[in-house]
This record gives sequence, structure tokens and C-alpha cells, in this order.
Amino acid sequence: MGGITEGFVGAVGRTPLIRLRALSELTGCTILGKAEFMNPGGSVKDRAALGILLEAEEQGLLRPGGTVVEGTAGNTGIGLTHICNARGYRALIVIPDTQSAEKIGLLRSLGAEVRTVPAVPYRDPNNYVKLSGRIAAETPGAVWANQFDNLANRRAHYNATGPEIWEQTQGRVDAWVAATGTGGTYAGVALFLKERNPRVRCVLADPHGSALYAWARTGELASEGSSVTEGIGNSRVTANLEGAPIDDAVRVDDQAALDTIYQLLWREGLFMGGSVGINVAAAVETARRLGPGHTIVTVLCDSGDRYRSRLYDRDWLAGRGLRQPDRTAAVAAA
Ligand code: PMP
Repeated sequence: MGGITEGFVGAVGRTPLIRLRALSELTGCTILGKAEFMNPGGSVKDRAALGILLEAEEQGLLRPGGTVVEGTAGNTGIGLTHICNARGYRALIVIPDTQSAEKIGLLRSLGAEVRTVPAVPYRDPNNYVKLSGRIAAETPGAVWANQFDNLANRRAHYNATGPEIWEQTQGRVDAWVAATGTGGTYAGVALFLKERNPRVRCVLADPHGSALYAWARTGELASEGSSVTEGIGNSRVTANLEGAPIDDAVRVDDQAALDTIYQLLWREGLFMGGSVGINVAAAVETARRLGPGHTIVTVLCDSGDRYRSRLYDRDWLAGRGLRQPDRTAAVAAA
């Protein structure tokens, strides 16, 4: 029957493309957000988790009762754990202890074995990604999802997210804007859209503390500052990002990202996570660079629910030198 999907796995993808009214009116462009927070596991990473596990199954790497190991900022682990539950695998998740309590708590509620580890740079052998690879190698019957360098991640976006955007806009898309963690979303969609129309402008959005903005502009990996956003930014070019088209890059600071997610909440009714603030603020900047009349697509990666104790908590923000936007002032100014 046409309207029925098969379990969790069948419900991943085919998300709405939401027109952001206030920001479209402000810029004279059509700014569209792919509603990835509406995936059944609550984030864009359900797509990568599914793509990675389906390829591992096809290659015979994963058998019933097997274990999936991954290092993740949370969302990939959440997607993987849902799919592991649905398909009879165990999930072992390594996560930096800097990530939100909401995500870590949710992973445990879902039934993952969770190891929180100190956040250390990628070059350190105890970095969460490297540690997860070692644990997988030492665990019998385990598969390492390896989302950063496993191209099954970007293939999921090339095969589904990109075509969905093309179809939903009827091919009328002028720019694609997204921040990258693994780069899977950005690269998969960028590669697909460029193939359909080489004139689609692909714009990499980046928070402070990440080396990719400098890399995109100068070819040198270099970073400055830091960010409270989670799941985005990188100190290296992953296999998933390698070779993706990049026409422009926009760096967004945390206060601008924060102002953007509160605008989305108060003016659009959308309750969003921090990476959405980076994405949508970069989409607005891209609209300014292109001028009115263009259609710009970005990603609404996950919900604000995952960051209530942080991005939506005045005291937490104040402790990090950030100002919780004032609703009366923001609505009056609009
Ligand atoms: N936003 C959030 C909240 C995420 O968790 C992630 C994934 N780490 C991203 C954006 C970036 O997605 P990708 O890994 O596909 O680059």
C-alpha cells in the first residue's frame, strides 16, 4: 500500500522542504530548509547511519547479534542505535563528554552502551573517533561505522537527500549551503546537484574553531576561536568531504547562530539545534551575496530539544559569554 512504510528504516528520509518565510521576505530570496529533524531518530544522521549499516550488511560484515561501534557527537549514534534495535545488533557508542546531556542520556535510554571520553584533538590517539576504531577492531563480530571516512555516508545523501531537493524544487535551486561534520550531507548533496546543474552554487558554512573555512578559501587548514555548536566543524578534510565542489564559504559566529535559532523559534515556530543556526545564517549571507530572486536550500539538522539545557538556557549561555536573545526586542525589530 502506497502510504505505509516498513518500520524505522522505512521512515528515514523523504523529509519536507520548508520555506522560511521571515528570512525569505527579509532577503527577497526563497530560503528553504530541508527538515531533517523530522527523521524518525530526530536528525539528518539517520540517513548516514542507515546507508552505512545497509552497505555493511550487503558486504556481509554485519550478522545478527553483531555489534556496531562508532565515535559520534551523538546524532549518528542515536540513528545507529535505533537501527541496531530494529535489526538485532548491539550499539557501542564513544562520545566526547563535551556533548549535551540530552544526547548522551538519550543514547543510554535507547539501549546503547555509551562510553564518554575527554574531548582531545584528532591527532591524539585517544581521540573519540580513533578510540572507536580500536574498540571495533578488538571486539569480535563488530563493525566500525567510521562515518567520517566511510563513503557510504555521502552516498546516502547523493542517492536520496540530493534527489529529494532536486524534485522538491523542481530543479529550481541556485545555491546549496551546509556546515559539515563528517561532510557527508554537504558533499553528497553538492555532488548530486552539480551533476544536474553545474551552475548550482555550493557554499560551505563553518563555525569558529573549525579549520574548514580557511581551507575552503586558502587551501590551508587553520582555525581560530571556538564554538558551542555540536556536530559540525573539523580540523581535517575527511574522505567524505574530499573532492566535493565548494564555490564559496561562510563563517558564522555563535551569537549570530544563536540569534538565528531564536528567530526561527519566534517567527517560524521551528525549535532548532545550533548547527541549524550556522546553516540558516550562512544561507542568509549567501542570499545577500547573490542578491534577490534566488532559491537557496539548507539543512535543518536536528531539534532544539537536544540542547534545551544549553542553547535555550540563559545561564548556560551567559557562562560562555553569549546573550540569550530578547523576544520582545527581536519581534518588535522584525
Ligand atoms: N548538525 C548536527 C547537529 C550534526 O550532529 C551533524 C553530524 N555530526 C551535522 C550537522 C553535520 O552533518 P554531516 O556529518 O553530514 O556533515
